[in-house]
Amino acid sequence: MYPARFEYAAPGTIEQALEQLAQYGDEAKVLAGGQSLIPLLKLRFAAPSALVDINRIGGLDTLAEEDGVLRIGALVRHRTCERSELLRGRYPLLSQTAALVSDPIVRNLGTVCGSVAHADPQGDWGSALLAAGAEVVARGPSGERRIHMGDFFRGVFTTALEPTEIVTEVRVPDPGPRSGGAYLKLERKVGDYATAGVGIQLSVEDGSVRRAGIALTGVGPTNLRATEAEQALTGGELDGEAIRGAAELAAKVAQPRSDQRGSADYKRQVVRVFTERALRAAAATARG
Ligand SMILES: Cc1cc2nc3c(=O)[nH]c(=O)nc-3n(C[C@H](O)[C@H](O)[C@H](O)COP(=O)(O)OP(=O)(O)OC[C@H]3O[C@@H](n4cnc5c(N)ncnc54)[C@H](O)[C@@H]3O)c2cc1C
Repeated sequence: MYPARFEYAAPGTIEQALEQLAQYGDEAKVLAGGQSLIPLLKLRFAAPSALVDINRIGGLDTLAEEDGVLRIGALVRHRTCERSELLRGRYPLLSQTAALVSDPIVRNLGTVCGSVAHADPQGDWGSALLAAGAEVVARGPSGERRIHMGDFFRGVFTTALEPTEIVTEVRVPDPGPRSGGAYLKLERKVGDYATAGVGIQLSVEDGSVRRAGIALTGVGPTNLRATEAEQALTGGELDGEAIRGAAELAAKVAQPRSDQRGSADYKRQVVRVFTERALRAAAATARG
């Protein structure tokens, strides 16, 4: 099917893009990698009056550490993250997540920020960035604001973003020298969305957990943070009992639904097992 008619704008600056978005209000959509939006247009599940293509705006493709923060710009593709030495060395959670998003064709074009803005509960980046304690930077008509990932997702395909706002970057705090992370995803075949996924980010200090981030993919209306499991780990030793306890708590948070990918019970079990495995992997990295 062909998409419904729409106006197309390809501004060269963020200010022009914001003006164009303001002109159309909630009738316009930002176009980044197009890997979620274009299929929706072709199926006519979405029929915006205008697309504001941000691909010609300079300066949105930064992937770099600056003042203790990793900046992932709005035009940073999944592929760039997958191949980044910086992420592989310092942010294994993000590096592993990138490699598990769909297939190389989607990874070549799709963006991290687009994935977060799209808010698909089966999106992998939402969990990775929740676990990492990231924040979203949004620019709108009244300036810039930062939204913690924990406050960003509001429901299925729904976020705290206003229709006139553009995500300019995602900021990930430095996890510190003794840290580790892992992303595990069960997929029916390579390139599929998650049956269930788990993202873990750990920082340790003097043998105990300084910060634990745990988030789940595909088992709720949004990516879910396993807050109780995080709290149970924080301040304690990361031994087998603590890991098993946290995995049980993470499984309790999951709200899976039975579908063609598996039964609700099966998915909950996957969350438990993957949380345990990912915690062990992250702990091994953190302990060096
Ligand atoms: C076959 C296929 C398989 C896939 N499998 C997976 C998978 O396994 N895991 C996974 O996580 N994802 C998967 N995806 C989705 C993919 O990751 C997309 O790249 C991602 O969801 C959206 O990023 P995008 O840059 O393509 O955004 P677009 O498609 O351009 O936009 C998506 C939505 O976000 C909005 N948006 C985009 N950028 C911004 C911005 N900077 N500011 C404000 N709003 C913005 C758009 O207006 C739109 O509503 C798959 C996609 C396809 C086509």
